[in-house]
Amino acid sequence: MGGLCAVAAKEECSIDLFFGTDYHSHLGTHRGGMAVFSDEKGFQRSIHNIQNAPFRSKFENDVAKFSGRSGLGVISDTDPQPLVMCARFGTFAITTVGLIENIEEIKAELFKEYSVQLQYSTTSGMVGPTEVVSSMISTCSSLVEGVKFVQSKVRGSCTMMLMDDKGRIYAARDKFGRTPVVIGRKDGAMMAVQESCALPNLGYTYERDLGPGEMVEMSPDGLATLIEPGEKMAICSFLWIYYGYPASSYEGRNVEMARYRCGAALAKRDETTPDAACGIPDSGTSHALGYAHEKGIKFARPFVKYTPTWARSFMPQDQRQREHVASMKLIPIPGLIKDKKLVFCDDSIVRGTQLGKQAARLYAEGCKETHMRIACPPLVYPCRFINFSRSKSVYDLITRRYVRGHEGEGADVAKYTDPDSQAYKDMVEFIREKLNLTSLAFQRLDDLVKAIGLPEEKLCTYCWSGRDVSLEDECAGECANCPCATR
Ligand code: SF4
Repeated sequence: MGGLCAVAAKEECSIDLFFGTDYHSHLGTHRGGMAVFSDEKGFQRSIHNIQNAPFRSKFENDVAKFSGRSGLGVISDTDPQPLVMCARFGTFAITTVGLIENIEEIKAELFKEYSVQLQYSTTSGMVGPTEVVSSMISTCSSLVEGVKFVQSKVRGSCTMMLMDDKGRIYAARDKFGRTPVVIGRKDGAMMAVQESCALPNLGYTYERDLGPGEMVEMSPDGLATLIEPGEKMAICSFLWIYYGYPASSYEGRNVEMARYRCGAALAKRDETTPDAACGIPDSGTSHALGYAHEKGIKFARPFVKYTPTWARSFMPQDQRQREHVASMKLIPIPGLIKDKKLVFCDDSIVRGTQLGKQAARLYAEGCKETHMRIACPPLVYPCRFINFSRSKSVYDLITRRYVRGHEGEGADVAKYTDPDSQAYKDMVEFIREKLNLTSLAFQRLDDLVKAIGLPEEKLCTYCWSGRDVSLEDECAGECANCPCATR
């Protein structure tokens, strides 16, 4: 994923930018970056590896040297940013978040049509998405034309924050608003963030969300819309289930409260009579609180997360390391497990590896029954729109491994998204057995949509439904059955 922050202020902005960016740290583990601008010093920029140390500790020395009234900050899971580019309309700094599904196509067009030279901008020797996007903008006559060009070409999503060589700040949300951009205001300053939890402790009050595809110029006094918002929105539902911060709200819907409603919806459909409801930390905890409140049962923490050194939500890039880290983070409390019937809430099941291990640990501690309740429906389609999961193959998903084993490759997977179909029930039973759970139930999509509180047509639910507003154009409305929905 990743997260962006920008500040336009009448006075020095570096401290607000530093803390505002830091509040996005749960969104990425790869690189952190800051750029500020002053008339005296021009662009000042710093980028650090944040894989093994938090953003704050890496940037505290830089911040003391920065000076400027406007700036950009980024937590990136992809490439080192912000980049500073020279274009014919002037120099600009840029940060991006998203996923460019057709990056190779766009690179080929840049080489052929515009003779653009690209460099390796990632540590893995790849041309990074921010470099591709900044090169696209550089071929245009202005930043606004550049952002329009990016929005017209990118399949996936690209949310951007930019700063020009007058220190003016621009924020542009991706075409369908998959990732949020929230604006805050205080006396003499405006801040654009992706996590609204960054605003209150820095003294900013909520101003508004940008619309899908909207681009604004943000001055210390207010916003000027440069590209009008589009009509269609498909904001990522997973923000509320898993990776959004509990204190944040997007489109006016708070994350923590949506998680309580998710847990309550699971409890309402559940006949189980457990001794306590428990969550797999972190996000599962809020879902479990909602479940416990609805059922009127105890909430317990039989797994406690070791937060002093394992504070980050995300994990290392390497899968084996990730699994090891996940097991190290959670410490069991035997007295809350032995001879108990427990309901566990978790945000989702991707591979199932971790959940299987946790279930085995529970039985080893003497747990009598382990009932797993998942806050979203089974993940059947890998995300194509944001840089959400690092899956290399569709068969990383336990659901797709089941379908392949059951029907072979290339099967129509649509029936596995219908909770009333036998195919769905058989798949859930397979997962339950595989993970050695007493019972397993997933959220229904209609309950999830209600828990978030936005109309379904404003949400992206592709990873569960295979339907998406962007594919309607591609597929003329036949996407449930066409090849693009099954890849
Ligand atoms: S496919 Fe899933 S993870 Fe990706 S944007 Fe849509 S809801 Fe979010």
